Amino acid sequence: MNMDFERRLAIPAEIKEQYPLTGKVNNIVEQTRAEIKAVFEGRSDKLLLIIGPCSADREDSVIDYISRLVPVYEKVKEKILIVPRIYTNKPRTTGDGYKGMLHQPDPNGKPDMIKGIIATRHLHMRAVAETGFVCADEMLYPENYQYLDDILGYVAVGARSVEDQQHRLTASGIEVPVGMKNPTSGDYAVMLNAISAAQHQHTFIYRGWEVHSEGNEHCHAILRGSISKHGNYVQNYHYEDLSRLYDAYAERNLKNPAVIIDTNHANSGKNPFEQPRIIKDVLHSSNHNEHIKKLVKGFMVESYIEDGCQKVGEDVYGKSITDPCLGWEKTERLIYDIAEKL
Ligand code: PEP
Ligand code: MN
Repeated sequence: MNMDFERRLAIPAEIKEQYPLTGKVNNIVEQTRAEIKAVFEGRSDKLLLIIGPCSADREDSVIDYISRLVPVYEKVKEKILIVPRIYTNKPRTTGDGYKGMLHQPDPNGKPDMIKGIIATRHLHMRAVAETGFVCADEMLYPENYQYLDDILGYVAVGARSVEDQQHRLTASGIEVPVGMKNPTSGDYAVMLNAISAAQHQHTFIYRGWEVHSEGNEHCHAILRGSISKHGNYVQNYHYEDLSRLYDAYAERNLKNPAVIIDTNHANSGKNPFEQPRIIKDVLHSSNHNEHIKKLVKGFMVESYIEDGCQKVGEDVYGKSITDPCLGWEKTERLIYDIAEKL
């Protein structure tokens, strides 16, 4: 092969031994996982709010952001279940640019995968220990999932990964709800096929082992909008889109039919300030139609301390270096507004 095998990395069991969860953290994880599953099973009416920066670029500002959510959550937690986004690996459209904390624990520094693995685990562990929030991450690289599999509350498979066999098979062995995004082309069938695959049992190769998975009955859809063949954004959060998803689910024999609406990405046309309006629109659709109300379990929102985004190297604290985000003040208002509408 035309690549250098630089260093052998510690396997997940070794990293977990070096950075173990305390009993207290373990209990919080177990309890939160059960709460999230109850939402997908329809046993809880809480709205799931998966919210946070597009990428977790720095530990200090991400912990600061999540800490700000704590007092807000106290006031809304009867109605809303907040799961912060700590996205530690980023898919890149052309392969260029910041690939996330896993690759670059220092966004201005060189890639360092050992430091990256430790940094991502450290950040997720700190979030639970210091704020009580069990967080969400994207599974961009299925073989790395075990470095974090004891600490996450929710996992998403991205628009560029959802058609991939290894992602689908790995999702079938994941213990928490996995959201399958619609692909960038917008095809519902690709997303529903991914859900179907992940809800079933499989035998396959994983990290050099023959493994058997039991199937993940909490695997569900995430609508994030798409790109047309002419390069325009095509939204898929409208009433007709949700109704079409309800019908498509009804044609298949899937467990726990559910959707999370991603309010940024192609749904907002990467204008983060559209997110509050999109949420209002979806809540209106839910209130208009019982089927849609049952299907829509929550939202995924891109939010950080500062509005918008910046280039890597500009170093504004709490400002996204990937997709533009809704800043803290607007976020706080948004969460209270949602709670009032429920
Ligand atoms: C994201 O959630 O930041 C992301 C990269 O999403 P998508 O896969 O929908 O582009
Ligand atoms: Mn993003």
